[in-house]
Amino acid sequence: MESFGQPSGEDRGNYDDGVAFVNGRFVPIAQACVPILDWGFLRSDATYDVVHVWQGSFFRLEDHLDRFERSMDKLRLHPPHERAEIREVLFECVRLTGFRRAYVEMICTRGTPPYGSRDPRECVNKFFAFAVPFIWIADPEKQKAGLHATVSPVQRIQPESVDPTVKNYHWLDLVAGLFSAYEREGETTILIDGENNIVEGPGFNVFVVKDGVLATPDRGVLEGVTRKVVIELAERLGIPVDKRAVPADEVQEADEIFGTSTAGGVIPLTKINGRIVGDGHPGSVTQLLHREYWNLHHKQCSSSPVDYYL
Ligand code: PLP
Repeated sequence: MESFGQPSGEDRGNYDDGVAFVNGRFVPIAQACVPILDWGFLRSDATYDVVHVWQGSFFRLEDHLDRFERSMDKLRLHPPHERAEIREVLFECVRLTGFRRAYVEMICTRGTPPYGSRDPRECVNKFFAFAVPFIWIADPEKQKAGLHATVSPVQRIQPESVDPTVKNYHWLDLVAGLFSAYEREGETTILIDGENNIVEGPGFNVFVVKDGVLATPDRGVLEGVTRKVVIELAERLGIPVDKRAVPADEVQEADEIFGTSTAGGVIPLTKINGRIVGDGHPGSVTQLLHREYWNLHHKQCSSSPVDYYL
């Protein structure tokens, strides 16, 4: 396999805050730049994926690579590297930083067309990656209490317009939802679709629990890897899961609500629109799935250990 611009000895050790892979070279995260004419930047014409490293191992790396490949196919993006090379870049990012807990992102952008062209077929697609210390949507302390979420008046962009199963940077609706949550003393938000069904939040899928049954939206959402893992766990534990439209009203009446994300796993939502959910603490189903999710991180089938330099 091709070598990826291995940094010289003097460059090693400058990765305390993270590392990025840009233009075929590894650079300290603060020095990583995007070419301003890349359509990934100018038009959000890009896809990405995020995988985490926990206790020195990637979690469900092949699931993330599968989704990244599907996303690129759907957008007709052709990265300059094969899957094995992309995997190796991700490992090298983590090795260089030495991080045992990391947030690792891979990105494919449309790139830049020849000057004057507006034809996406003429762009040379680009690949970027980076690793930074693990990022939480809600840190473990916050997770004990749970987050206050508001169901946003902002609708998520329709799946007919932007395919949400392609992980994308069309976040203007999610960010508008966050601002509306902050105005109502919320900490995060859940967006709705045109039929007043909930879809997803900024960086997470949503589950509601009612009478011991889980429900999660089946449409208008990213097929989250954490969502998939939670569905597998629930099935193994004998907890029924419905993938279906979830009307916003059901959220108001749920016994438990939680979000799922690579950036933090199973995240209890204990207040909705100012109303306390259940008894105001993470519920028993949420806690069970939370525990099982983190336990999985020690199982060989789900983890790919990093062979660190040190
Ligand atoms: N939905 C959106 C819009 C996201 O951006 C993310 C993750 O970033 C998720 C859901 C959760 O997906 P995953 O569990 O693969 O992290």
